[in-house]
Amino acid sequence: MSDLSTIIRDEISETGPMPVARFMALALGHPQHGYYTTSDPLGTDFTTSPEISQMFGELVGAWAADVWHQIGSPVAFTLVELGPGRGTLMADALRAASGQPGFAKAARIQMVETSPVLSRVQQATLAPITEKFGYAEPEWISSVDQLADGPLIIIANEFFDALPIHQFIKTEKGWREQCVVESEGELAFAPSPTPVPGGVMLAPSLKDAPVGTITETCQAGTAIMSELCQRIANTSGAALIIDYGYTRSAAGDTLQAMRKGKFVPVLENPGKADLTAHVDFQALAECAGEGTTAHPATTQGQFLIQLGIVQRAAMLKQGATPDQTEAIDEDVRRLTDDDAMGTLFKVLAITAGRIDPAGF
Ligand code: SAH
Repeated sequence: MSDLSTIIRDEISETGPMPVARFMALALGHPQHGYYTTSDPLGTDFTTSPEISQMFGELVGAWAADVWHQIGSPVAFTLVELGPGRGTLMADALRAASGQPGFAKAARIQMVETSPVLSRVQQATLAPITEKFGYAEPEWISSVDQLADGPLIIIANEFFDALPIHQFIKTEKGWREQCVVESEGELAFAPSPTPVPGGVMLAPSLKDAPVGTITETCQAGTAIMSELCQRIANTSGAALIIDYGYTRSAAGDTLQAMRKGKFVPVLENPGKADLTAHVDFQALAECAGEGTTAHPATTQGQFLIQLGIVQRAAMLKQGATPDQTEAIDEDVRRLTDDDAMGTLFKVLAITAGRIDPAGF
């Protein structure tokens, strides 16, 4: 039994059934035993788009440079990444955007990261790039309330899926919060014995849902998105959110655990497997208040094709060996095809007022 499993059991026996959100927060973020606190999972447990190909980060960098022009090329702005993993996306984006005169000098870089292990990896990835292209040294912060003042250009790939979700399940007695309990020596899911507190809003369409229906909310995600939207409304800028999920809110259990590229049971070995839930892009888009616009979410495939991934691949293929050419074509396929990451992954842009973001 893992140390974290013991900690979770102890907490359950002291305070009763543990909401799924608390389980997920501990499994991913426990200060000593959390998955992200202790490991660098990229490349072993899962692979993300920027780790597949440099083209992904380069196109995101071009997107950011375009937003910067649209907000009037301010001489000072902050480029932010939420949950930057190994720092690969930011490194490729900085390299690509440095071609725009003035961009590197104007950019302050803030990396929002809670994992000490990954922060160190990001520092090592970015140091040579910032030095080479004349960017200021990046800063690391642990939460969006530490974001700098002034215009913000924010990017996040596979960040929101790692935030804790609450699950609710329809029982014979009505809606209950889905919890983790100990049953016959094992961790198991069970509905809370008490009704869902009055303050929790479930979609009206769920009123007549059949018994057994599960629905999810991600308060951590909407709280962060609302904060970003307010900051963008006040000081200008844009946020680009890329993740797997659905464009319209819908019921369903999407909580999943992954270890070494394979799905594993969610409650087995907390802290040793990646836990994620699909992102509800409608809920994120609805965070856009006065002064911001949520552009209708598109798919990753459409987004990358509109930004010119095919042309970028053609450039990279010039002078490439036949093996490299094949690899570049395969990367484009993985990032954009419907049966790979092209459709499952969605892209949402929330921007200040009149910005017309590329790729939508
Ligand atoms: N964006 C990267 C990595 C995605 S993995 C890529 O595309 O490759 C998720 C990232 O989010 C990791 O860097 C993890 O440490 C970070 N993370 C998870 N929860 C977080 C939180 N609450 N605040 C900040 N970062 C978090």
